[in-house]
Amino acid sequence: MEHDAGSRHAAGLFTSAAPHRAGDGHALLAPVLVLNASYEPINVCAARRALVLVLKGVAMTEEENGHFLHSARVAMRLPSVIRLLEYRRIPHQSRALSRKNILLRDRNTCQYCGTVLASSELTLDHVIPRSRGGASTWENLVACCHPCNRRKGNQSPTEAGMKLMREPRAFNLHTSRHIMRLMGRSDDKWRKYLFY
Ligand SMILES: [Zn+2]
Repeated sequence: MEHDAGSRHAAGLFTSAAPHRAGDGHALLAPVLVLNASYEPINVCAARRALVLVLKGVAMTEEENGHFLHSARVAMRLPSVIRLLEYRRIPHQSRALSRKNILLRDRNTCQYCGTVLASSELTLDHVIPRSRGGASTWENLVACCHPCNRRKGNQSPTEAGMKLMREPRAFNLHTSRHIMRLMGRSDDKWRKYLFY
């Protein structure tokens, strides 16, 4: 969750007007699909962040999620999909190579045994070990559980008799869209922007 000046401002706007109700917090965390001005899906953020963007006039609501944010005077409809009013150039490969993003790409799944684990219980495995010249790149790093990591040791997957669930790839727009689709499966309103 981002806490910039904008979201603090917006939070203050509502909490000062009405005490937080139990349901509001959860609704504010609901994922919202962010579209570029061109209607291209580019990101997912929490409803609270989306609301701030709308209130700032940076984005407009394209779809609502059916929930309201209540204050003493007004009930604001929470968005499900927002669209930026100004076109933003998205670099071809906009995601930085980081542990967090590798785990996100691999959906916290050990790429050798398929176990889904908390981030803290996963490590990064160099498919071709570093000691053998393997680079720290999107294509050579995968999420891995500790038992698999120990078993593989200083070997290539073939040598260790282990098989990758899938070829590791850079986290590009295609991968991002795949993840947005997974997140949007439960929200029909996202479909027309993501499934084409
Ligand atoms: Zn494993």
